[in-house]
Amino acid sequence: MDSTKGSVSINAENIFPIIKKWLYSEKDIFIREIVSNASDAISKMKKLTAVGEATIPEGTDDWKIEVILDKENGTITVHDNGIGMTEEEVKKYINQVAFSGAVDFLEKYEGKTDDAQIIGHFGLGFYSSFMVSKKVEIDTLSWAPGSKAVHWESESGMEFEMSASDLDERGTYITMHIAEDSVEYLDSFKLRDTLEKYFAFLPVNLFFIDIADEKEEEKKDEVIDVDEEGNTESTEEKKDDAPKALNDTSPLWLKPAKDCTEEEYKEFYHKVFNDYNDPLFWIHLNVDYPFNLKGILYFPKLKNNYDTLEGTIKVYYNQVFVADNVKEILPEFLMLLKGVIDCPDLPLNVSRSFLQNDGYVNKISSHITKKVADKLNGLFKTEREQYCTYWDDINPFVKYGCLKEDKFYDKVKDSLIYKTTKGEYFTCDEYLEKYQPDAENKTISYSDDTTLQAQYIKILEATGIDPVILDGPIDSHFIQLAEYKNAGKFKFTRVDADVSDKIKDESSKESKEAMTALAESVTATFRAVAESENLKVSVEPIKTKMPAMIILSEQARRMQELAKMYGMTDMAKMGLGADDITLVLNYSNPIVKQLATLKETDEEKLKVVCGQIYDLAMLAHKPLDTEVLTRFIERSGDILAKFAED
Ligand code: ADP
Repeated sequence: MDSTKGSVSINAENIFPIIKKWLYSEKDIFIREIVSNASDAISKMKKLTAVGEATIPEGTDDWKIEVILDKENGTITVHDNGIGMTEEEVKKYINQVAFSGAVDFLEKYEGKTDDAQIIGHFGLGFYSSFMVSKKVEIDTLSWAPGSKAVHWESESGMEFEMSASDLDERGTYITMHIAEDSVEYLDSFKLRDTLEKYFAFLPVNLFFIDIADEKEEEKKDEVIDVDEEGNTESTEEKKDDAPKALNDTSPLWLKPAKDCTEEEYKEFYHKVFNDYNDPLFWIHLNVDYPFNLKGILYFPKLKNNYDTLEGTIKVYYNQVFVADNVKEILPEFLMLLKGVIDCPDLPLNVSRSFLQNDGYVNKISSHITKKVADKLNGLFKTEREQYCTYWDDINPFVKYGCLKEDKFYDKVKDSLIYKTTKGEYFTCDEYLEKYQPDAENKTISYSDDTTLQAQYIKILEATGIDPVILDGPIDSHFIQLAEYKNAGKFKFTRVDADVSDKIKDESSKESKEAMTALAESVTATFRAVAESENLKVSVEPIKTKMPAMIILSEQARRMQELAKMYGMTDMAKMGLGADDITLVLNYSNPIVKQLATLKETDEEKLKVVCGQIYDLAMLAHKPLDTEVLTRFIERSGDILAKFAED
């Protein structure tokens, strides 16, 4: 063919610099686009031969893509043995049509300079190679009988030159001469890494060839023979280990779930997520209608620390990686899981803000949500024991899901369980049925710190009530949600709230008057030692050895926590119940009974004893301030000294 020159597009001059700037943070896209094109070219060739529209010479169906790095010459070449292009096709697809995609793109998004709005895959296709190249060459030979190989090259993406190519095999070579500002891609590790990131599951074998390595290998393989006369002769040793493709062309998510083994699921998980722990369980997604979606979602084991509660959902488009955690397609709570999702129908060539409003995306999202809920309900119903063993790991995820998606809550509400301090698991209905069958205002007692609240837990347990443990960072929010959803049915009460009838020592016959009288007589002293004018003092017989307990009403405590969250420290002034504390003296404890006598005989001693009782009760309630703790320790020392004296 005669050599021709021309302009790619009439109004393109300013486009590349802008696109380049926009995409700077997503430069990797070029490799994704060029290799995807190569993969498409092979798919097309396969299809044409499969339907009998094309015949190809025998032995030319060893489908593969090669990415060849030549650092010395500063090039990356992508080679495929796919369909190739005729001269006409190059003119049509490369010179005209392809670029109009970029123009459309720019017109649509002009003015929006926010990178994050662009999902990346917007059909800039071939031209994205100019993001990293100072010159791009195409050498291509179409499968069509009688075709001539074509060479195309362009330095700017604006002006091109076409001529005959000496390529003699069907397929296409795209050679990118990497520009100065993108030399990082000439690094073998970086390039291989990028390829592995996007193409770990490409449907066509992908080979990475580093010319530098090849040369190195050649040197090694050269065996220098020295013959008897001292002449050297080099011979090449045949290598029998064939090069290995970078990718797995048939990832597990494509296999029907019924054919996948547990081992395969686990192995896939370890490999894709670099997590050596086994996942707890998984969901294989496979939808054909009304949209296409395949994937596997894994429930990971928690690393005993909530901070690491962070999953990864890898999104693929026809086996090509798009991005991690595309929050516009997935319900947010799902991102706490680990998984892969392949959505070939996904309109990825649009901005993210558009995706959010897309009906299709909503459908994907609600389908996945439903699948996850079904799996949890299924496990709960048929493998309850197993489900309970998973609960410690999965509950933050399930609760987060409930908080984030009403629909999810509605679906899983009957499978929500609570773990008691004895390690048993109940639904709220079961719990109430067991512990509060006749109570008018039903409550679920809970502890959010089993160490600090050990005293209170012990008392409750002694009365036959095992509180549930809700000590995760998400639990305070979840409690609110569960109460809201079960309004009128039950409320949660922390173990140190309200001394309910249950923890009173029913066996005591002590008269009520005596207790009231005692409370009245020592209130002033306790208020003085506690330095709190609003302290309430009551006397009850309690089933514990402790002389007293601090009770802060659930309501008041929640107000306090809220105020703390919003940085409001001066609680009393705001009437938020900071001082709504009751000191409950235990009438079953002999020291408490002696307080009445001390009040009459030794006011000084009474102060010391009351101070100690109050601090002990506080100590079992929450960590003491430094000042109070120092005072408590000093006083304890004095008491000990006195005890030793006597
Ligand atoms: P898109 O892939 O979105 O159509 P591109 O700019 O990437 O846009 O490519 C434009 C066209 O050029 C493709 O549709 C295809 O027809 C052709 N093409 C690109 N790369 C190859 C290749 N390696 N082999 C054959 N045809 C190709």
